[in-house]
Amino acid sequence: MTRTNPDSCPGVLRLHDAADGPLARIRVPGGQLTPPQLQALADAARDVGDGNIELTSRGNAQLRQVRDAAALQERLAAAGLLPSATHERIRNIIASPLAGRVGGWADVHPLVPALDTGLQGAAELAGLSGRVLFTLDDGRGDVSGLGGDIGVHAVDGDTFALLLAGADSGVRVSAAEAVDLMLAAAHGFLDLREGQWRLHEIPDGSARLTDRLLTARPHLATADEVVEVTARQDIPIGWLTQADDLVALGAGVRLGSLPARTAEFVAAVERPILLTPWRSLVLTDMDEWTAEQVVRVLAPMGLIFDANSPWLLVSACAGQPGCGKSLTDVRADVTAAVESGRVIPTATPQSTRTTLGAQDIVAAGRQHWSGCERHCGRPRAAVTDITATPDGYRLDPAD
Ligand code: SF4
Repeated sequence: MTRTNPDSCPGVLRLHDAADGPLARIRVPGGQLTPPQLQALADAARDVGDGNIELTSRGNAQLRQVRDAAALQERLAAAGLLPSATHERIRNIIASPLAGRVGGWADVHPLVPALDTGLQGAAELAGLSGRVLFTLDDGRGDVSGLGGDIGVHAVDGDTFALLLAGADSGVRVSAAEAVDLMLAAAHGFLDLREGQWRLHEIPDGSARLTDRLLTARPHLATADEVVEVTARQDIPIGWLTQADDLVALGAGVRLGSLPARTAEFVAAVERPILLTPWRSLVLTDMDEWTAEQVVRVLAPMGLIFDANSPWLLVSACAGQPGCGKSLTDVRADVTAAVESGRVIPTATPQSTRTTLGAQDIVAAGRQHWSGCERHCGRPRAAVTDITATPDGYRLDPAD
């Protein structure tokens, strides 16, 4: 596939003209936020946005209805959330949220700033599409299946498999060389492409890029045993005891929309925060007393610490009024379904009629609601699609 147009991914310096007003996407490499940065996002959401921070499927943040783009840019730059004007849209890095704290082979979080700095330090990499995604998986397999272009996946404490276009290339690299190799792969992708936005769009792109990398670095090992990559939705929820005996709390966020007021309370805990690619949060490094207070205060404000909550089964696109293509207010419909008990854990799939009114839908398991057939924001793992049509919603159960 050869593309003739540059990608249209929004950023902070190039807003998307959504139906409900300008939309800004703020890259948060590795989902890593300091408390002051979350506070800055909350302030910006309240003062120049619609009052909410939207969490995205790449662990980034979005603000809707931006009233003053210049003021937003100034605030984000001051908070360290806009470190590069030229490379802002290519800083798409997902890392295993719990790495280094709970499970996994390797702590990939220190690789995030190294990769981010390397991306920003190479002028030509500003030419990458804003859709290119880098993944850093600590070996548990939670982010390697999220459709990355270039990634590493820990196979032991000091060795990573290089993933290209979401599959194991067979190349093995040490932790010390992992970031360097990912940057080399990014340069190689630019050399190979003829307008394509993503590596998988280039004919034999992964194989050709692997050959280039091995030719330039003949010392790299290769492996016959392939890392199996699958799409999963491992949302960390609730109380998680860290390896250092501190506590992390995984918190679900209803439809990925975090009110500024709630974000301020999270920031006030003054602990590192991680945004996950499942539109949720992880608050880290708390003692038990602090973690108990966080649950006591933030659960009534809507954060989800119960792994059995039906809110964790649903996701939705923007729908009306944010998207001009939407046939309905999808988020209102899914909210009504959850609040009236029509989102249930398991059941026989309901798809006996062609279309259903929103109030008639009873849907089981993971489900994604869309305002049209584009299915924006649909998780990569198996979900039941609930899609608005001119005649009502259509249910397509997960395979
Ligand atoms: S799925 Fe359709 S209605 Fe929903 S955000 Fe995408 S284009 Fe808009």
